[in-house]
Amino acid sequence: MTYLVPFILTFKPGEEVPPPVFFEPDEPDIPPGPYQLQELYCPTPDCPCLEAVLQIFTDASDYPLASIRINLDPAEKPNPRLSLYDDPVPYAQALFKDIAQDLNSNPAYLSRLRAHYDQVKAVAADPSHPAHSTMIKWAITGGPKPPANKRKRKRH
Ligand SMILES: [Zn+2]
Repeated sequence: MTYLVPFILTFKPGEEVPPPVFFEPDEPDIPPGPYQLQELYCPTPDCPCLEAVLQIFTDASDYPLASIRINLDPAEKPNPRLSLYDDPVPYAQALFKDIAQDLNSNPAYLSRLRAHYDQVKAVAADPSHPAHSTMIKWAITGGPKPPANKRKRKRH
């Protein structure tokens, strides 16, 4: 089993990491943000999946509200798909619609996701890269698990 790895694992210790991406929906049905989008990618070097997964977090929680799977094939549409976790928040669909709209209309954001996908595959394929071993460890273990009492999300 290989877990998806967060994009930030492509950076070596001490290297400056780009600031997190925040999303501020402007919809009456959605509690005001900001919502943080964390990018995850498949680290298997020879797997041509061409996908990004965006996990949606709020400050109130260290457990994602939902995730969005995005097709990164430049010849195809991004076709974002929503995955819900157990006990989904009632506004997950509305939030997804808003983010999907943004993705479909923002080619610069999509090409950034494609570049990040390539970076993850490159680090995973290069044992001499300083971030390689941390990334591979994550791919095997799925990363540190949040403490059990924090897995329950705070409700808005
Ligand atoms: Zn893959």
